[in-house]
Amino acid sequence: MDHLARAKEILGELIAFPTISADSNLQLIAYASELLSQVGARISVMRDETGTKANLFATLGPEGDGGIVLSGHSDVVPVDGQNWNSDPFTMREEDGLLYGRGTCDMKGFIACCLAMAPEFAALELKRPLHFAFTYDEEVGCMGARALVEELKRMELRPSAAIIGEPTSMRIIEGHKGCYEYTTEFTGLAGHASRPELGVNAIEFAMRYINRLMALSEELKERAPSNRFSPPWTTLQVGRVEGGAARNVIASHARVEWEMRPVVEADAAFVKENITAYVDEVLRPAMQAVHAQADIATHVVGEVEGLEPAEDSEARRIVSELTGLTEAEVVAFGTEAGLFQTAGMSAVICGPGSIEQAHKPDEFISLEQMEACLGMLERLGKRLS
Ligand SMILES: [Zn+2]
Repeated sequence: MDHLARAKEILGELIAFPTISADSNLQLIAYASELLSQVGARISVMRDETGTKANLFATLGPEGDGGIVLSGHSDVVPVDGQNWNSDPFTMREEDGLLYGRGTCDMKGFIACCLAMAPEFAALELKRPLHFAFTYDEEVGCMGARALVEELKRMELRPSAAIIGEPTSMRIIEGHKGCYEYTTEFTGLAGHASRPELGVNAIEFAMRYINRLMALSEELKERAPSNRFSPPWTTLQVGRVEGGAARNVIASHARVEWEMRPVVEADAAFVKENITAYVDEVLRPAMQAVHAQADIATHVVGEVEGLEPAEDSEARRIVSELTGLTEAEVVAFGTEAGLFQTAGMSAVICGPGSIEQAHKPDEFISLEQMEACLGMLERLGKRLS
């Protein structure tokens, strides 16, 4: 069977596991583990604390550092409320396109990796080749975070990672981070006629937002030159909620905000500044009236950006494999930043278009699958 036929067959199996982020991915991980262990890969399956999700980390070739990681997330986004022309979890082929939830984002890439595994295994690999299939990417890159921690614990240092998110096989070397927070304000209720006896949570939330907006102006000046649009770290408040009624001093308020840092230092700048403002100004003012008043920030998710590197081994390798000399930056976030933070050089390059991701009738073209298989085939040769 040729590579494409095998990849199609595997993709059909992968699509049939409904690995929506909220649900278990264990069946898919067991299936992939089985295929990889059949060809002699060394397998490590790491479960999360709930025991219902797992990462798969598998290695072919020699032991040790300096390997190449092929990375993909096993979870998919839900299909609720979407109007599909056929069952999203039964792969369907029509006119050279394969339809199903996760075909492009990003089981197509995983299927290509698994289809190539027997060929990789038959080669005399000079460097380790790793497969990293993670959980919960779509809800904050939880799996990849646990995976890089585990690699640290194992003291294993692969040198480059290729993340196969759908880029239409273009090379992506950068994306912004995405940091999300909810800040809760607890004041003291009272009659509106005596505001000095209460602590108005809305008022403090407003002062907090004003400080965030002032910081967002400063961020425009701080950014180093780059190709993102806009080329600075953005910060915005997306939701505000609070209070009970017009004539009651608001005892609670909540601010949901996010920032998309161009560089890690910008995120640290915002966090330090806003924390200092809370600690030195807002909280003392609230507590002067009511000792239990408080401001607490809950981290919803902090997904690191991928900073384009001057000299990147991953970019060099993928450009050699694809023949592309240009590398771009994109607006969507991926697990690549986590791998980079863990010391690997990382790029994103995978089959299918991000245009089809998360949509009804998601598809990948056979031509894209073939292009990906070609890249992997050349990777095997390069490593042997
Ligand atoms: Zn994805």
